[in-house]
Amino acid sequence: MKAEIIASGTELLLGELTDTHTSFIASQLALMGIDLYFVSIVGDNYDRFLSVLKQARDRSDLVIITGGLGPTRGDITREVIAGLLNEKMEIDSGLKEYITGYFARLGLEMPDNNLKQACLIPSASSLPNPLGTAPGWWIERDGKIIVSLPGPPGEMQPMWRQEIFPRLQKRGGAVIVSRTLKTWGISEAKIDQLVGRYMSLPNPTLALYAKDDGIHLRITAKADNRVEALKLINTNERDLRDILKEAVWGTDSDILEETISSLIQAQGLSLAVAETFTNGLLIYTLSGAKDSRLFLKGGLVVNSELAENAISAADLAVQAREKYSTDIGIAISGQAGKDIESALANIAIDSKDGRYNLTCVLSGRPATLRRRAVMQALFNLRKVLVSKG
Ligand code: ATP
Repeated sequence: MKAEIIASGTELLLGELTDTHTSFIASQLALMGIDLYFVSIVGDNYDRFLSVLKQARDRSDLVIITGGLGPTRGDITREVIAGLLNEKMEIDSGLKEYITGYFARLGLEMPDNNLKQACLIPSASSLPNPLGTAPGWWIERDGKIIVSLPGPPGEMQPMWRQEIFPRLQKRGGAVIVSRTLKTWGISEAKIDQLVGRYMSLPNPTLALYAKDDGIHLRITAKADNRVEALKLINTNERDLRDILKEAVWGTDSDILEETISSLIQAQGLSLAVAETFTNGLLIYTLSGAKDSRLFLKGGLVVNSELAENAISAADLAVQAREKYSTDIGIAISGQAGKDIESALANIAIDSKDGRYNLTCVLSGRPATLRRRAVMQALFNLRKVLVSKG
């Protein structure tokens, strides 16, 4: 099935509103293995809307329209669909009752304009909208489907999930499943080199994304059912993990500080922090993890500038651990580099059973450097915790 999306609304063309519906629907279609070939944005002008819809219906099997189902004169989606299909809009008594009831429940008088939302054309069935007055339309004619959904995201997404997704899924497209491996410490170019041959495979496919918490590798498999898709993904994931080894720190929705929080709590340990040029970003990040107060006992922020002679991170880690009487102390200190864009970060972890020191050269603008140093510190801490566990 070839699908196409039309987001309607002049606000979208004026740049006053960012179109988020298209990306939502696009990702939903991908989950069902429905191919999406075109997306358009169109304003509230009848002739232009009609020509975009005509073109879409001519070249695609499924056209999904968002917006323009409101009660005002500018809301023209129903009229455009009726115009294209050459069908007459008529008030549906059931819908009229629903809309009048909706206003009555809110204790409001219904403006006559809203009656327009009770209209249907013969080939449309209405899609209930428990969160608003505008029902959606599902139209099947001549082997093509048109779906019309309301604009407000709080109405569009529930309608999609309850009404559209199940109907489309029943039509049996392929299933698409993705898994993301999250890595730290290897550059995108290096990863590209290491896993290049997997990137040219047709199924599963592999894509790289550079994110704040490292390079993500997204494996996507297409199969007749979820079990088959997962099998493809698992084989691929095993191979990639063999290649990338310890650089992989998580998958999918994993967040490094949350992983650390779980590991540290599972081992019944406590943690203290000391940091210099990161200005508290390390403890701030850790304290954002769920239940961090159960293991994070305190932190020191020392001498916040990048110094020429770095304070020893190893000493700071010991100081933090002693001051807060914890099982583990972790510290970051920084040393200014030759220019503003490079610096040395020293990261140390001190625990009852050993010291783990690491010096890494980081580069980037100061804000980036801080973020990277924190990420590196968390990455090392996770490694230590995994080796202890
Ligand atoms: P209403 O009954 O509220 O008039 P509608 O179905 O006519 O709804 P629109 O008038 O097109 O929809 O849009 C209503 C609101 O929904 C917009 O002001 C905007 O907040 C949101 N909206 C519409 N389209 C999009 C979109 N593509 N992306 C994000 N938000 C959108």
